[in-house]
Amino acid sequence: MISQTFAMCISYKVAMINYDVIVLGGGPGGYLAAEHSGQAGLKTLCIEDRHLGGTCLNEGCIPTKTLLQSAKTYAHALRGDLYGVRAEKVTIDRGAVIDRKEKVIHTLVAGVGAALKASRVDLVNGRGVITGRSAEGVTVQVGQELYTGKNLILATGSVNARPPIPGLREALESGFVLTNRELLCQREAPARLAVIGGGVIGLEMAAYCQLTGTEVTVVEMLDHIAGPNDGDLVKVLQKNLERDGMKFHLETKVVAVREGTVVCEKNGQTFELSADKVLLAIGRKANSAGLGLETVGVELERGAVVTDARMKTNAPGIYAVGDVNGKYMLAHTAYREAEVAVNTILGKADTMRYEAIPSVLYTVPELSSVGLSEAEAKAQGRHVSVVKLPMQYSGRYVAENEGGDGICKLVFDAKRNTLLGAQVLANSSSEFIVAAGIFIELELTVDEMREFVFPHPTVCEIFREALSQYKGK
Ligand SMILES: Cc1cc2nc3c(=O)[nH]c(=O)nc-3n(C[C@H](O)[C@H](O)[C@H](O)COP(=O)(O)OP(=O)(O)OC[C@H]3O[C@@H](n4cnc5c(N)ncnc54)[C@H](O)[C@@H]3O)c2cc1C
Repeated sequence: MISQTFAMCISYKVAMINYDVIVLGGGPGGYLAAEHSGQAGLKTLCIEDRHLGGTCLNEGCIPTKTLLQSAKTYAHALRGDLYGVRAEKVTIDRGAVIDRKEKVIHTLVAGVGAALKASRVDLVNGRGVITGRSAEGVTVQVGQELYTGKNLILATGSVNARPPIPGLREALESGFVLTNRELLCQREAPARLAVIGGGVIGLEMAAYCQLTGTEVTVVEMLDHIAGPNDGDLVKVLQKNLERDGMKFHLETKVVAVREGTVVCEKNGQTFELSADKVLLAIGRKANSAGLGLETVGVELERGAVVTDARMKTNAPGIYAVGDVNGKYMLAHTAYREAEVAVNTILGKADTMRYEAIPSVLYTVPELSSVGLSEAEAKAQGRHVSVVKLPMQYSGRYVAENEGGDGICKLVFDAKRNTLLGAQVLANSSSEFIVAAGIFIELELTVDEMREFVFPHPTVCEIFREALSQYKGK
């Protein structure tokens, strides 16, 4: 279905081989850069090897949230009696869930194709490899064709990291171990799923599987799940996931994989975990290999393309946006970096700021954060003051979350009375965490933040309440 959409998008012929801007990769970073560049009147080519929309639309952000929506609807129906609703014989049809996910992807990928066409961007479906420089700029080869760009924007994204665990390669080949790509297409639910990695991707997919009836066990090397998120909120999140039946083995290393078994090690003791399928979710690494970067001397650091705040690499006329620069592997960061790169090419002053990039863990409940956590702020030697409130301070939260135990934490600079960070464990927090991001970016004082009017009743009112409780130091 997706390749048909792509074919539709590339049905108009590429007439020129010299471009103002070549964009390598058609994910969020690449397609937005191409769109912006085309709209600004620059002759633009976008080269995409697989599917327009990249990881985000095809096997990342969007399909995971689509599946989670089905899982949440199912879970709500099962727990309807908490809200006075009784439904009998509630079932979930995994095939229909996957069909809906495909439909959502198709709609969004078609939208990207249409937007690129409207922006007069030429598209080529194939793998681009940089071959060097000519008088016209950087040369990129796709199959037999050579294209030249005065500017090149690298937007090749990232790939799943594959640790050297004995038996892993064979288990990936046999289909016992899956990555997000395969798990997102499973029409049959595994009875038992082991998840290697308790970070963002592992937990989101674990939540989907757990809520739809799979028995999920997460194995995590660290002593906590959810990566660098605030420890107070993560503990409550873990309790919520455990209440749904999810199991955790923390401070545990996977040392081998055999068909039907994951071999783990904790405190020097090994034990075996039986599973019908395993999800490998130990993180992602910048996709910079085999692109020909060495032919133009692009500097890498641990495999990621090094960029400055204007998204320039060390090589003249070459930029890198999104996951390939390894800074923040998030789609919304890629979008903004794409704008900065094109504005730089256009000679407009624009720089990337990373202080207030929101990040969301789309579990149930969601964990959203922006800026510094309490621990990070203290480590930076700031004069920290924290307001921590149960989400029960929001009437809307109480109305919508029977028995909910969410938390909101605001981290302030007590010297300047400004906000440094915000963390919220609550459903729908992904929709309003940006408000805290704006407060941080604008460096508003607490008095200025208090002047904003929040709609009532909303879960977001928790910010108004927390601001009212700030006393400083
Ligand atoms: C399961 C999962 C869930 C996620 N959920 C979220 C989320 O909720 N929110 C969020 O912000 N982020 C999320 N992410 C991360 C997000 O998907 C990435 O940050 C985002 O896709 C990065 O965009 P990008 O344009 O840099 O790269 P990508 O989206 O990876 O796109 C890169 C594109 O480049 C193409 N390409 C690579 N090499 C070449 C080449 N040589 N020639 C031509 N084309 C090439 C690839 O085929 C690909 O389409 C998730 C990721 C995963 C895996």
